[in-house]
Amino acid sequence: MTVAPARQWISSMSQFSPDRAAFDAAYGAAIDYRQSLGQRPPRAAVDPAALKAAFSTPLPDRPRPARQVIDDLVSAASAGLMANSGPNFFGWVMGASHPAGVAADWLTAAWGQNAGIYQTSPAAAAAEDAVARWLLDLFGLPRDCGFGLTTGATMAGFTCLTAARNTVLARAGWDIEERGVFGAPPITVLLGAEAHSTIFAALRYLGFGEDNILRVTADDEGRMVADDLKAKLARCEGPTIIIAQAGHINSGAFDPFTEIADIAAAHGAWLHVDGAFGLWARAVERLRPLADGVERADSWSVDGHKWLQAPYDTGFAIVRDADAHRRAMRIAASYLGASPDGERDPSSYAPELSRRARGFGVWAVMQALGREGITEMIERHCACAQHLKARLADEPGVEFLNQVVLNQAAIAFRSHAAPGHETLADKVIEQIQKRNRCFVAGAEWKGRKILRISIISADTDIEHVDLLADEIIAAWRAVRSEL
Ligand SMILES: *Cc1c(COP(=O)(O)O)cnc(C)c1O
Repeated sequence: MTVAPARQWISSMSQFSPDRAAFDAAYGAAIDYRQSLGQRPPRAAVDPAALKAAFSTPLPDRPRPARQVIDDLVSAASAGLMANSGPNFFGWVMGASHPAGVAADWLTAAWGQNAGIYQTSPAAAAAEDAVARWLLDLFGLPRDCGFGLTTGATMAGFTCLTAARNTVLARAGWDIEERGVFGAPPITVLLGAEAHSTIFAALRYLGFGEDNILRVTADDEGRMVADDLKAKLARCEGPTIIIAQAGHINSGAFDPFTEIADIAAAHGAWLHVDGAFGLWARAVERLRPLADGVERADSWSVDGHKWLQAPYDTGFAIVRDADAHRRAMRIAASYLGASPDGERDPSSYAPELSRRARGFGVWAVMQALGREGITEMIERHCACAQHLKARLADEPGVEFLNQVVLNQAAIAFRSHAAPGHETLADKVIEQIQKRNRCFVAGAEWKGRKILRISIISADTDIEHVDLLADEIIAAWRAVRSEL
């Protein structure tokens, strides 16, 4: 074995010493970007080949100064960035990464903490503890729930449903830790026919397939029909998990939790709620009744990077039975020292061991917004959705397919000149995207193509929704004139 000469070691080690120029370059580029957001075209109107080419430089043989690398990154990425942090972005349900969270996230990266266990970063664990208390309080959930910080609602759902699966099996006398999933008593999963696609992904990761899933009929707003749940459940025996939803992706609607919770309790089923953005209604006095009864569930998955505007990627897994939560996510090894009494090991509540200290960013966003900032933003977004509905009310052929109870609008188009024409929404979206003054996206719902609007970006206010309404009207009139 040859040993590298000491000089060589020293010169390569210096690559890791702090380089103010690189940090300054990143800071400058970040400020420039954020200040451009209001004016910037929201969609990355980029040539995919050019973008790929900009990144596809050869891997250098020798180390390069970090400053140069950061400059190169900025110029390679710029054209391909989507302005979802800006106020004119209405596509998908995406947040805007609050500046306080971004700044805290820079520190998170610079501190380079591993938030796996208390001992690898006591500060990260303490920050998670604090945000857990604040969030449980805002959502009106018991303080002693298990709380895990995940990458988003997908992994939060996965985390909660792992606890659900393991617990309902334990109640049926099956110890999953000893015996695994294969050969276990079958579990029936009931969920709304319009559950979010990521719930199905989480179920697949957990060993469930189509044969284990019963879809409960959804009503016109995409809400689970409680009577159908009851009827389907009456034919089920053995371990059962029910998955309900707070905030349907097209309509923003809420499942009837009180009825569902009664049914779940009568059957001894575990009730999970996917509340990726909708659970935030609980933080607003006026909207709270929409989610009545949601507090009776056994677990909840929520996003931080959507309505809270925490930096990507952040989600929250909340489980009423904290022991079940910990058992489901437990990672044990002799070298992972037990944390001092009562101190929290973040990895006991999430699927990873080594993990980013997401708690700092969430802590900073929640401190910066405060209760009132959070409430004001959510109410403003819901008022904006009402404003959009009012602005489009008199436009012939524009049809809202949902009641608009929250921040979501599902808009379809109809013309006597082209009856049964199914692609009108696509054409409207294409026009709006071409003009690129605001960003919208589409979907299919109730057998129709829709323009799907999410009002959720931190700075979005009435003026931006006026621009959106103007753009929809202009695009629709242009499409109609060509029919
Ligand atoms: C966004 C969303 C998810 C998935 O959340 P990610 O943060 O993308 O993992 C799940 N359910 C609903 C209702 C959502 O809106």
